[in-house]
Amino acid sequence: MLVFEHKVALSHHLTTLKKPKATIGFVPTMGALHEGHLSLLRNSLQNNVLTVISIFVNPTQFNNPEDLEKYPRTLEADLEKIKRVSEDIIVYAPTVQDIYEGNTQSKAYDFDGLEHQMEGKFRPGHFDGVGTVVKKLFEIVQPDFAYFGEKDFQQLQIVKKLVAKEKLSVTIVGCPIFREANGLAMSSRNERLSDHERKEAGIIFKTLQEIKTLFPNKSTSSLKKRVAKVFQNHPLFQLEYVEIADEATLQTCIRKSKNKTYRIFIAVFANNVRLIDTISLN
Ligand code: AMP
Repeated sequence: MLVFEHKVALSHHLTTLKKPKATIGFVPTMGALHEGHLSLLRNSLQNNVLTVISIFVNPTQFNNPEDLEKYPRTLEADLEKIKRVSEDIIVYAPTVQDIYEGNTQSKAYDFDGLEHQMEGKFRPGHFDGVGTVVKKLFEIVQPDFAYFGEKDFQQLQIVKKLVAKEKLSVTIVGCPIFREANGLAMSSRNERLSDHERKEAGIIFKTLQEIKTLFPNKSTSSLKKRVAKVFQNHPLFQLEYVEIADEATLQTCIRKSKNKTYRIFIAVFANNVRLIDTISLN
């Protein structure tokens, strides 16, 4: 399995390998890999001749310095996991210098308002950081297809918008959320939960599912209140936000419309570990 630290060497390798019609599938990650990440890799392997994964904890998308510092970095274990999926996967694990060349700054993006909702409200600058690093990675890897998880649904929509606005020649593929046995969405941050918190965190998905069953017959405001009540005075979890929004625009759903699709989005803290989840409602 080839592991590249430098973009010049990676680009050179990909140019020598790339034959006409041989597509490149790309899976950008921040490492601490779990089955959710590996499912994106398997999707890419099934549909492309070459698969590249990047492992890079991108500093510009962290609004909270403690979150950046505590973000798990487990490169050796990640490489073992990738190898078990396929030895043919090409890994790009760059330094901050290789990506940012001494200018660790985000570009300011206009994503037509997608960036002002939910994660954008609670993590100022986050999507500028995401847009900046994704564009840089696309320029380096030049993928035909790039795989993103629905776990970060707002990010998925923003990356699609980035591609449309910047006229990039890559197709974005959204992939379903992988969950732990109790329903907790897999996340690198789950490693920072205590055993007890991790077990009890199944309440997040359970609550979302309950809202889905109630969605046809209740107003969105009453459903959001219901979620708030579940987490009010909860001994382990504090609700940061719950939102029911139009999947396409991510605008808050005030009155349901028959020809639109909606999702519920939630962010919850367990101590200082931030967990997000989402499911479609119709
Ligand atoms: P991250 O390393 O957290 O930046 O995630 C890298 C990619 O994996 C993103 O496209 C995420 O949406 C995706 N991802 C993270 N967790 C999951 C999951 N539980 N199921 C599916 N995809 C996921």
